[in-house]
Amino acid sequence: MSQTFSEAIEMIAQARRMVGFTGAGISTESGIPDFRSPGGVWANNRMIDYQEFISSRAGRIEAWRQKVIAWPEMRDAQPNAGHLAFVELERQGKLLAMITQNIDGLHQRAGHDLNNVIELHGTMLRAACLSCGDQISMDEAVARVAAGDLAPECKSCGGYLKTATISFGQAMPEREMHRAYEASENCEVFLAVGSSLVVHPAASLPALAKQSGAKLIIINRTPTPLDEMADLVVRDEIGKALPKLVGMKEGG
Ligand code: NAD
Repeated sequence: MSQTFSEAIEMIAQARRMVGFTGAGISTESGIPDFRSPGGVWANNRMIDYQEFISSRAGRIEAWRQKVIAWPEMRDAQPNAGHLAFVELERQGKLLAMITQNIDGLHQRAGHDLNNVIELHGTMLRAACLSCGDQISMDEAVARVAAGDLAPECKSCGGYLKTATISFGQAMPEREMHRAYEASENCEVFLAVGSSLVVHPAASLPALAKQSGAKLIIINRTPTPLDEMADLVVRDEIGKALPKLVGMKEGG
């Protein structure tokens, strides 16, 4: 049965074990475009999947070109009211895990216990060698590309450098997925925020939580395939709705 907004506030207030789950939508109010909204990343860029990245120098050059353009906005972005609302849930001692598909590091910047944040799709804050795993900062990688090294390679072993993110077609990180499944199976309330819920396997987590007995709350400005299964769907801006839902006072 669908709950009202005020029943959901109560549901969250009573919950002892919650999971937060976010997609790119939570960061649009910090100025980072999502993938699928009008004007989002895919309105302006061709998607380079993992296979293309590893098999084609032209693909690597295009992937790095896109990342160099996106990086300054992501590096300078600040957490917004939505990110802070999840920190409030952690402060209340009820957040089992902060699972995110985002690669922008804004949950960590908002002040979470770093052990609580599970990045399913990696991070854009670093670049990693696909052969030896050696990592460098994104600032360093971008500086190299800007200086003309258009598809940079690892200085230790010569392997391809790629942002430490999970591309389409690339294996998911095992440890993170395991932790995410475990938290989803053990929570009382699963709060899915700012995700179109179409990218799998991440999008299977809300359904897993629901099947395991949790209440599912979705906050998203556009419909998702899991809306019918949810106990409450909030069709509003995240920065407005989420602080209210977790019991924060206006402006606080
Ligand atoms: P998505 O673009 O598919 O979906 C974002 C959803 O958020 C959309 O349904 C949109 O309607 C909604 N939305 C956007 N702004 C909102 C707001 N202010 N209030 C309420 N709803 C809002 O993104 P996704 O589901 O995360 O999946 C795609 C992939 O995007 C992820 O794997 C992620 O790695 C990647 N990505 C991440 C970032 C980031 O780290 N900030 C940015 C772009 C893409």
